[in-house]
Amino acid sequence: MLSTMQDEQLSLATLLRYAATFQGDSTVSTWTGDGVRTITYRELGALGAQLAHALRGLGIGVGDRVGTFMWNNNEHMCVYAAVPAMGAVLHALNIRLFPEQLVYVANHAEDRVVVVDGSLVPMFNQYLPALRTVRDVIVVNGDPATVQAPEGVTVHAWGELLGGQPTEYDFPILDERSAAGMCYTSGTTGDPKGVVYSHRSNWLHAMQVISPNGMGFTAADHVLAIVPLFHANAWGLPYAAMMSGADVLMPDRFLQPGPLLQMMAAQRPTFAAAVPTIWGGVLAQLDAAPQDIAHLRTVVVGGSALPPAMMHAFQEKYGVRLLHAWGMTETSPLGSVSHPPTGVPVEEEWEYRYSQGLFPASVRARLVGDDGAVLPNDGKAVGELEVRGPWITGSYYSPDGKEVDPDKFDDGWLRTGDVGKITPNGYLTLVDRTKDVIKSGGEWISSVDLENAILGHPAVAEASVIGIPDAKWDERPLVAVVLKEGVTAEPAELREFLADKFAKWQLPEYWTFIDEVPKTSVGKFDKKRLRARYADGDLE
Ligand code: ADP
Repeated sequence: MLSTMQDEQLSLATLLRYAATFQGDSTVSTWTGDGVRTITYRELGALGAQLAHALRGLGIGVGDRVGTFMWNNNEHMCVYAAVPAMGAVLHALNIRLFPEQLVYVANHAEDRVVVVDGSLVPMFNQYLPALRTVRDVIVVNGDPATVQAPEGVTVHAWGELLGGQPTEYDFPILDERSAAGMCYTSGTTGDPKGVVYSHRSNWLHAMQVISPNGMGFTAADHVLAIVPLFHANAWGLPYAAMMSGADVLMPDRFLQPGPLLQMMAAQRPTFAAAVPTIWGGVLAQLDAAPQDIAHLRTVVVGGSALPPAMMHAFQEKYGVRLLHAWGMTETSPLGSVSHPPTGVPVEEEWEYRYSQGLFPASVRARLVGDDGAVLPNDGKAVGELEVRGPWITGSYYSPDGKEVDPDKFDDGWLRTGDVGKITPNGYLTLVDRTKDVIKSGGEWISSVDLENAILGHPAVAEASVIGIPDAKWDERPLVAVVLKEGVTAEPAELREFLADKFAKWQLPEYWTFIDEVPKTSVGKFDKKRLRARYADGDLE
């Protein structure tokens, strides 16, 4: 028996139309260094229509890829909204990728147009000659004459190209399973892999983002989107903002703690999202020059494990609640979110809040052991996390139909490469990534647990733990520590600090003090580079 329900296709064009009409007074603002430039969602709708006409004029049709090489700003939000709405496919390029990776992903995705921020043109010029499928470059907030265009590439100024275009667009009705956007994982080993989001997946994901069990923001919120729009589908923020009618604040290139705090003071956002390293920097700056940030109702932190010490510092010193979430490019990215269960006494809430959290109804999760057997959710068994659901990728993008990395999929489940445990009431705690796991004498040592604990020491600003080769134990943990400014600490003292939190054999004997932990293109600890640095066991 079929239902009587209408077969309305979920479409991002509907979202844009909704935002522009029924949430038309809500705004998107971009920080300029000392103020904001603002457009309303109504204006975003008109601008989006103009962009769609302009792109159509350049020959862009359904399924064509439109790249961006931009900071988070009003125009980037406009591309996010308009490109999928017209049936084309958004591909936000990571401006911090290594050059060869950037060229690889743009060619692999076959980006036809790239929208480039004026300030990034000098960098983009280095790549452009190698981008085989790009025919048009649109320069935002800059001078098109600065683009060194090879033959066959035409350069346009955003303002001129859009100006005079009609402010309404007859967005096509699309199959909800058609491609809306794509994003590449960073290629830690081998080439980056492409994930293609659909209208349906982005729509359903946006509903989860705004759900109270997800990030839970509403039209009353003012969302500071620090996470780059090129990182993991922008954590779903643009579509969730349009769906909820929330105001959005874009930091543009002002991503250092000082400017972030300056824009917070001026704009008083109620919600923000970024990886832990950003919040670590903000915290250090706040400690040096305290400021009221209690306007932040919720701060979502994910992308790597959120250290409990950071959570406590924000809450106890600044009255700001950090909300830990887990996800990955392949999961759109929102997977689990760590809201504690209702009714749990406040002092018991912390353990839940430290965890990576609970999965929503639409994401199924299971743990799988080394032998492929499914493990119980008993809060003890540790295995690889596998997930499935309507916004989880079922494969990697392959232009020639050849399966890419089929080992990442297990009978319809995505193998996340994350290792953890799940409690009987569904809370996930990750202990490591499979590639970061430290095996000492046949036993696992969780680098995440060590990092979290070391960060609790008052002298420590950053700590990253990797495995280094060891003749007796195969591997032992090495702790790379960044101390806070003006303080000192000795390895023996830090080791002593850990002594009551870990078994003796887990306590690291190798320590090194560094100025900064190397970061990946999206601001996570780059353990690959750390490992390479210490591969020969030389700790100096
Ligand atoms: P990249 O591979 O470049 O880091 P992603 O952002 O897609 O790209 O990374 C997803 C991975 O980030 C996850 O598989 C997991 O290892 C890690 N991660 C994300 N959120 C968390 C979290 N809350 N705690 C621990 N690890 C996390």
